Amino acid sequence: MSSATYILDNALDAIGHTPLIRLDNIARQEGLKCNLLAKVEYMSAGGSVKDRIAKAMVAAAEQEGRLIPGKSVVIEATSGNTGIGLAMVCAIKGYSVIITMPEKMSLEKEATLRALGAEVVRTPTEAAWDSPDSNIGVAQRLQREIPYGVILDQYGNINNPLAHELTTGPEIIDAVVSTLSTPSKPSSEKVDVFIGGAGTGGTITGVSRAIKAHNPKCVVVGIDPKGSILALPDSLNTADQGAAYVVEGIGYDFIPQVLSRADVDTWLKTSDEDAWTAVRSLMRSEGLLIGGSSGSALSGTLTWLKTTKEGQAMAETVGANVVVLLPDGIRNYMSKHWFLEMTNAKASPLSGVISKILESSS
Ligand code: PMP
Repeated sequence: MSSATYILDNALDAIGHTPLIRLDNIARQEGLKCNLLAKVEYMSAGGSVKDRIAKAMVAAAEQEGRLIPGKSVVIEATSGNTGIGLAMVCAIKGYSVIITMPEKMSLEKEATLRALGAEVVRTPTEAAWDSPDSNIGVAQRLQREIPYGVILDQYGNINNPLAHELTTGPEIIDAVVSTLSTPSKPSSEKVDVFIGGAGTGGTITGVSRAIKAHNPKCVVVGIDPKGSILALPDSLNTADQGAAYVVEGIGYDFIPQVLSRADVDTWLKTSDEDAWTAVRSLMRSEGLLIGGSSGSALSGTLTWLKTTKEGQAMAETVGANVVVLLPDGIRNYMSKHWFLEMTNAKASPLSGVISKILESSS
């Protein structure tokens, strides 16, 4: 059921419309009776869930008359994926782009941004969000000086959560509702649980609003890396507050305006190590070429299903639909240490056998 059954006007039409895919192998390995389903966002045109907000924020700014083709310079602070989405949309529409991005974000994101014609300014990872040296501070300083500079501001722009309320959430609901229950694949035909990470919080806020309107009983679980402060209650954050984490795109040292924590029922903290284990499992067991924060989302999902009372009951419920959102793909992380370790040829189970065969037959 691909959306590409007709000619698209341009790549903007290939944003979103991502598949909802059963993770049956992982569900079996983990002994889950519920359906484990993944919303796989790397299949969007620019490679992440953030393409959707880039398209929506540019469209809204155009309607408000804030953008002038050939003149406007779109400036945005991002962990990379919103920047890639904006650079793609702006390449098509004819706006210049400057992206400010902390040092810790991958080389691949910078290369992709430059390939799309954007300027990239790196900022110190340790700069507090409200410091003039942070990616947000540098974007503001540039905007004050650059003629026709516009900050669309994903942290405060209502079109960020709205894009997910109007597209990501409804796509999940449509897929679940239109896949009817069968004896071999039982389904409640509604979304029973939604789990996602939070960076700006736009995804979890918008998807939660759409899904709770469809099923008010749906449980929404937020994932926050250890070191960040987005989780509630606050006591979850204190043990590791300020600690560095390698995973990109989730977690912050401030609460973004677009994150509505009232729309999230419960939070879990995840570690980098758990994320890498889950990335490996999504690749090796399900063939999904996802990025680091997708690992955080899956590891949080499994922890919730195994260690909480509510989650354990859900895990035992045949036909319950547990949906986890996987935000981006491995394209963004191929030079990262954690990925190189995971794909080290010496660690492959057959490498010893192969070398012996080749040595003895030479
Ligand atoms: N994962 C990745 C890889 C991301 O780039 C982002 C966006 N920062 C997220 C998760 C979180 O999405 P959101 O900003 O909608 O909370």
